[in-house]
Amino acid sequence: MKAREFYNENERIAVVTTEPFARFLDYLAPEGGCKIGSFLILPLGKRKVIGVVWGAGEGEYDLSKLRNAISVIDAPPMSYSMRKFLEAVSDYTITPLNLILRLCTRVPDLNKPSVTQKVFSLASNHSNFRKTPQRNRLISALSKTNKNKLTSKEIVSISGVSAAVIATAASNGLLNEELIPRDRPYPALNPDFKPKRLNPNQISVCETIRDLQKQNSFSAILLQGVTGSGKTEVYLEAVANALRKGEQVLVLLPEIALTSEFFNRVKNRFGENPAEWHSGVTLAERRRVWKMVASGGAKLVIGARSALFLPFMNLGLVIVDEEHDHSYKQEDGVIYNARDMAVLRASIEMSTVILASATPSLESWVNAKNGKYNHVQIHERYGEATLPNLSAIDLRKENLKSDEWISNRLEKSTTECLQSGDQTLLFLNRRGYSPTTVCRACGNQISCDQCDARMVEHRFINRLMCHQCGHTKPMPNKCPSCGIIGKLAVVGPGVERLAEEAQIKFPKAKISVLSSDLHGSAKSLKDEIQKISEGNTDIIIGTQLVAKGHNFPKLRLVGVIDIDIGLHGSDLRAAERTYQLVRQVSGRAGRTDNKGRALIQTYQPEHPVVEAILKGNDDEFWVSEAKQRELACMPPFGKLVGIIISSSDFERAMSAANQLKNNTQALDIIGARAYGPAPAPIARIKRRHRIRFLVKSPRTPGLQDAVRKWVTNVSLKGDLRLSIDIDPQSFY
Ligand code: ADP
Ligand code: ZN
Repeated sequence: MKAREFYNENERIAVVTTEPFARFLDYLAPEGGCKIGSFLILPLGKRKVIGVVWGAGEGEYDLSKLRNAISVIDAPPMSYSMRKFLEAVSDYTITPLNLILRLCTRVPDLNKPSVTQKVFSLASNHSNFRKTPQRNRLISALSKTNKNKLTSKEIVSISGVSAAVIATAASNGLLNEELIPRDRPYPALNPDFKPKRLNPNQISVCETIRDLQKQNSFSAILLQGVTGSGKTEVYLEAVANALRKGEQVLVLLPEIALTSEFFNRVKNRFGENPAEWHSGVTLAERRRVWKMVASGGAKLVIGARSALFLPFMNLGLVIVDEEHDHSYKQEDGVIYNARDMAVLRASIEMSTVILASATPSLESWVNAKNGKYNHVQIHERYGEATLPNLSAIDLRKENLKSDEWISNRLEKSTTECLQSGDQTLLFLNRRGYSPTTVCRACGNQISCDQCDARMVEHRFINRLMCHQCGHTKPMPNKCPSCGIIGKLAVVGPGVERLAEEAQIKFPKAKISVLSSDLHGSAKSLKDEIQKISEGNTDIIIGTQLVAKGHNFPKLRLVGVIDIDIGLHGSDLRAAERTYQLVRQVSGRAGRTDNKGRALIQTYQPEHPVVEAILKGNDDEFWVSEAKQRELACMPPFGKLVGIIISSSDFERAMSAANQLKNNTQALDIIGARAYGPAPAPIARIKRRHRIRFLVKSPRTPGLQDAVRKWVTNVSLKGDLRLSIDIDPQSFY
């Protein structure tokens, strides 16, 4: 597309809108003209929609019938590299550009002009005012705070005086009153505020990273270091380097809404708070972040995966912490992996990207081994801490009762740990009370009405829940299939049931269950995590939520209840995931000194993954895992694409799938093969039948084009839907 910097009023422009229409719509530039990248308000039918100028309009559409854009939104135009990035994401994920644009315009009131807010500061002559108790409180609170302009609400919260008192103080001159923009810049971060003294391992890694940052070109770095090795401190130094160069920085974290610890660390290091972007942030604050990222008033953003689509103007560094984490993959709506798109974005911005992990994904590890990424490693824990001692408990020798999961050996170690006043973590990656409720009379397993999935008992809310669609129903007392009363029984444990057993075995212990569904809000979960890290719990019972970088200083013992769960199943990454999870979870123990221990319960201690974990030789594990994937031409050596065709009507979905089955020329040409169609492992979700293909292909840049061409063989009539998942992580 031809592109100029500026388009005069009434010139034909091509616009990408956030509506599901053609890639480009032609409009006439608005009154006053517009720039390339300008955000516009556009008339569309009777509605007003948002769009971005992509270049000169080339459409055949009759010029006299084109409508003018209504106005230019008060925001800096989208940069060239941001536009290239959105196009690249659209191409890679085979998703219309419009839907990708939506990811970066998800900000409240983007189309409204900036608003102002009233702030107050203490008048310099405040000592001349006659003293009253209310005024004294006001003056003392305002003299102590380090902010000099506060809103009425902020003053109320720090001083305890009422809003009316503040208003009076303003009218008689004790307070100065002023209107400032709501979306104002974030306080400057000082890269030299309080640097830590690094140890020699950290220094050498930091130097490598700094040299790469100096080149001002694209580089990807895998920062691999065992849990507690000081990776975070290392990448904060990289943040400092970028800040010194005046660049913007984005740090992506999984489960960010749960961590206040990280924000404290940033504030201690740089003296001020960074901008925050995730679902827990207020709408007004999100708007401020968006605007300030676009205009340069926010230098450091700590965000969830969607922060990758913020309109940075000068992004010099992107950090993806815990890069192996599966929550980086967005699996509904636009399907993308934020880790991979972060690398893509850095490559377009010519900037540095750091992927940090103790247990990197095999993809990143292979990229590091073959030189595509720079590989920097720290092999030891920081300071006195050493890695926990790992051993297996062979459950075949433990004679567990059928409704017990804590072996004698684990029980004994837990008791010792309790006696010494330390914390124990019992890890079981299963939410709820029990995964299966079965009728002892007819063998029926209770499943969801809308999905082909078993319902999971959650005793905490006293209901059955479907983990696919979230549907819940009360616990029945008779079997929905045979109608016999009193024969329903639970099979297997979830964290709630494990907590019950632990409370019986350790009656005096204070037990906390950490599971994403047990807390009403992110805030209450965050509080629970805070409570645990302060040591107010003896036994933590947790799902994979506990693997995510929380620092529990008093944790000494980790018991993995059932490592075998993750090793079953046909998931391509079963071994990798189990390895990562167990290494991460056991890495929670002994983070501050060297008394940590991890006990792993298993029925198959000779399983290669279990052996590899016990040996603690990460490289050996990755080498062998990589070899197996390579032999099978599986990712990262080959590519996979998951296709799901769904409809409320099974026959309709199947016949659409068969149209694809019979027209695979586009795939054949590049040597790709479509396996299927077959009902997906979860064959129905929310009443929609799901038919699945798995495309296996050699690594070739033509893959997306071929898949795009191939899927045009089916016309999506009625409620038929087709979703494309490039590099799928889950296979249900
Ligand atoms: P990782 O990110 O690799 O898990 P962290 O950066 O969180 O490791 O470091 C582990 C612990 O060691 C943290 O409490 C951190 O504050 C501390 N630490 C790491 N490096 C230093 C340093 N150079 N000086 C002081 N404390 C450090
Ligand atoms: Zn369901």
